[in-house]
Amino acid sequence: IKNLEKIFTAKKTLFQPKQYVHAVNGVSLELNDRETIGIVGESGCGKSTTGRCILQLIKPTSGDIIYQGKNITTLTKNEMNKLRENIQMVFQDPMASMNPKLSVREILSEPLIAHKVPKSQHEQLLKETMDLVGLSDSHLTRFPHEMSGGQRQRIGIARAIILKPKIVVLDEPVSALDVSVQSQILNLLQDLQDELGLSYFFISHDLGVVEHIAHRVGVMYLGEMVEIADKEQLFEKPLHPYTMALMSAIPKTDPDEVKDRIILKGELPSPSNPPTGCKFHPRCNYAKDICKTTRPIITEVEGRKVACHLYQE
Ligand code: SF4
Ligand code: MG
Repeated sequence: IKNLEKIFTAKKTLFQPKQYVHAVNGVSLELNDRETIGIVGESGCGKSTTGRCILQLIKPTSGDIIYQGKNITTLTKNEMNKLRENIQMVFQDPMASMNPKLSVREILSEPLIAHKVPKSQHEQLLKETMDLVGLSDSHLTRFPHEMSGGQRQRIGIARAIILKPKIVVLDEPVSALDVSVQSQILNLLQDLQDELGLSYFFISHDLGVVEHIAHRVGVMYLGEMVEIADKEQLFEKPLHPYTMALMSAIPKTDPDEVKDRIILKGELPSPSNPPTGCKFHPRCNYAKDICKTTRPIITEVEGRKVACHLYQE
């Protein structure tokens, strides 16, 4: 992803002028083969928009998305549909993304029909995929409402992998599930990654979940990528003040550690009227004069990438 930008326009109404929301602002990052990159940040930080741009479910305003050497932002509709075999998505709420009137068999057959997989192969693929996600064939005749949240998400994952993709964008895939079910689904995703050689773009607001599954982590704030690092590096020593605050908010079992929690000043600003300079400056405990006027550029620091004036000359 190179310099991705997405600007949404909110129509002018009687009460307010036309508004522009810079949902994603100059995001660049790479996703490697068999890698999981976790994308974290508060709601409205642009992580879902970035994920949807990868699948072209949302057209980026500018920037490039290069997949195996091809810029997919310039593909025709037909070319993009073909590419969807390789790039798939799993949503937070499987119920909302499934037609409740369709059986599991019909839900999983949809991508096979859309991508013209010969009918003679369907049965084998359905069985194989159910097996991969840990469900018996008997679930094929069921309907979404007849299953538990965890089983439904297994179907959501089955639908995403049945065409044997390379990349899966997962948008908060375990956020709607009970904690005990969360770890089962995360383990399933890890097994599938090993078995099928998948790369994951894993969106979550939950740092604990990301720590469990990601190899690298990107932290977003108000549409911008503020830090990208290997998971171990990031959790051991976050460099960006916003990452530090996020880390300090992870629930601790040791009461001594709780004292270290960094309390951020003020509220998350509106994305339609973001602060100047570093967008984090009104809430940052380290802000200097330059932070109010000049946007920090994301640069390499100690083997990772950070957008903060504390680390720039
Ligand atoms: Fe804080 Fe300045 Fe760094 Fe922004 S650039 S995070 S305001 S120190
Ligand atoms: Mg979201």
